[in-house]
Formats: sequence, structure tokens, C-alpha cells
Amino acid sequence: MEEHNPGPGRKGKILVSACLAGEYCRWDGGTNLVPEIKSLVDSGNAVVVCPEELGGLPTPRLPSERIGGRVVSSDGRDVTAEFRYGAEEALWVCKEEGCRLAILKAKSPSCGKGIIHNCLFDGGLVQGNGVTAQLLMESGIAVMTEQEWLDSQAASSSAAPNDPPCS
Ligand code: SF4
Repeated sequence: MEEHNPGPGRKGKILVSACLAGEYCRWDGGTNLVPEIKSLVDSGNAVVVCPEELGGLPTPRLPSERIGGRVVSSDGRDVTAEFRYGAEEALWVCKEEGCRLAILKAKSPSCGKGIIHNCLFDGGLVQGNGVTAQLLMESGIAVMTEQEWLDSQAASSSAAPNDPPCS
């Protein structure tokens, strides 16, 4: 496994899933770009990680899903160790960069929060967290899905800052 190295130019206060920032690190070689999240990175306010790549998995790769404490790929290979290593690396980046918030891709076996795929590879979902999301939350990092973060931004911008107080 490679040494800790978050890479140059990655200083920031928010940790984000790399695929949300437009990196082509998704299992099928695609991206999950959310322009507003890419803007966080471009402005230097966020740092990106892809836990599955940090764990040593190639891109593209077979899809994987979590079942209990294990993660398996669609060919039945146990990739739990790679997912755990990637989660530890993401936590290291969080600590190194002083991140207190992580915006992570929903439903992913690494990055998902609250709901993940059911390990039947049929698109079904179950309650649970991805390996990285879980480790970050257990370590005191606040985790939001991309939609939760977008909703929070919309709520903030729709609040009228100059409204007089109610009383
Ligand atoms: S591990 Fe996370 S950052 Fe990497 S492709 Fe999957 S959802 Fe995106």
C-alpha cells in the first residue's frame, strides 16, 4: 500500500467524495459531478478523496456492495480490507486537513450515509453506512450526502438575512 499522500493543492476545510467533484473515479470509470461541490474544491475550501482508489482498487473496477461488516465485489471477491484501508486513509486526510465536515456520495459502499445498496446487486437499498462514512462519523466528523448539503445551501440562501426579528 502506498504512503499517506493527499497530494498537492488539496488543502481545504471540507472533505468531499472525489467523484462529486468531477473526478472519474467511479467504479465504471464515470463521475458523479455536482458543480456546486466542484466549486468548493476549485475555491480551495474542500479536499477530495476517493476511498476506493486510496484503498488500492483500480478504476474501472467491479461494483462492490456491503453486507454486514464485509464488502464484496460482484464476482464474490472479498474487498473488505481495501475498503477499510481506504477509509483509514480518508480519515487521515480529514485529520491532516482539519476537516470537520465531509460531503459524501449517497448510497456508496464506501461513502454512503444512512442508505446503501443491499449486496444483491439488483439496485435494492437497505439502511446502513458505507465503510468510510461510518468511520468518519465514529471519529466525530459530520457527514452529509450531496443532497443534504445542497438542501442546506438552498435553505441558507433562501433565508432573508435582513428580516427584522419576530419580537
Ligand atoms: S469511493 Fe466514494 S469517492 Fe470513490 S467513486 Fe465511490 S462514491 Fe465516489
